[in-house]
Amino acid sequence: MPEEVIRVENLVKTYKPVVAVNSISFTVKEGEIFSLVGPNGAGKTTTVEILECLRTPTSGKASVLGYDVTHDEKEIKKRIGAMPQDFSAFERLTVRENVELIARIYQVDPDLRSVLEELGMWEARDRRFESLSGGMKRRAGICMALISNPVLLFLDEPTTGLDPQARKETWDVIRRLRSMGKTVVLTSHYMEEVEQLSDRAAVIYGGEIIAQGSVDELISAYGGGIRIRVSPYNDEIERVLMETAQKVVREDSSIEGVFHDRIQVGRTLAALYGQDEKYHLDIVEPSMDNVFSRLAGGRVDERGELI
Ligand code: ATP
Repeated sequence: MPEEVIRVENLVKTYKPVVAVNSISFTVKEGEIFSLVGPNGAGKTTTVEILECLRTPTSGKASVLGYDVTHDEKEIKKRIGAMPQDFSAFERLTVRENVELIARIYQVDPDLRSVLEELGMWEARDRRFESLSGGMKRRAGICMALISNPVLLFLDEPTTGLDPQARKETWDVIRRLRSMGKTVVLTSHYMEEVEQLSDRAAVIYGGEIIAQGSVDELISAYGGGIRIRVSPYNDEIERVLMETAQKVVREDSSIEGVFHDRIQVGRTLAALYGQDEKYHLDIVEPSMDNVFSRLAGGRVDERGELI
């Protein structure tokens, strides 16, 4: 059984009159990527910064690596690494100089080359931070977070503002952290990111965790099922879907069947593909986007706002 690295119980943080975090509970296990996912203002940063001993909880309990966040700040800070939201470094220092600076603050003497090589930053070691692309800046930030050899890393919105390619490259770096045996706590408002990276996730909204579990569990519980959409459709197609789908939705020229059972999807496809009629067929798998919109009644846009 993997060990529990973080335990949060009924954690509350208020900034009067705002209740930023409202009695949340979750655990993070050793070696996993755990995500807190939700729109701006949901309470993600507050939660993470309490775990990093940067803010004090109003009530409830939180422990990190067995240490209490309110009493054991030193012990916790020694063992964790963090890349904060809107991370930046000394613009005019090189990557190597920025990383060395952190090593000196932590009073550690790491194998700099292996850390930089591990994350593909060795070639860029003598480049000034200001000259790096957005994705490389985040990667340098992750190197800085790694330099004290922490067992646990907090990455707060690590890909916000990056273009899709740089985001995907950052995902590879985060996956590499897991293969190095690190435990990663990630916050994000990008549903696809959470789906791609997380072993488990907690959906946070309005300071409350409204669902948590593995991505598969969340999608199968709240994703709303697999949809087969056919357009145009005839009476026979409608009959097949009526007989097999849990729900059928008709629009002007298309029809959609919703399924909760994959075997039934297979049977339905076999029946539909047997038809002579020419039509267009789409299979739409549920995603974390569907999970969030079913739970919170809205979508989160690119900037993290609920719409
Ligand atoms: P974002 O990505 O926008 O930071 P978040 O999910 O990380 O979103 P938090 O930053 O934790 O959310 O904010 C949760 C709530 O607490 C918001 O309503 C925010 O305005 C409020 N809040 C956060 N920090 C403070 C503070 N220092 N003083 C007052 N209110 C705060």
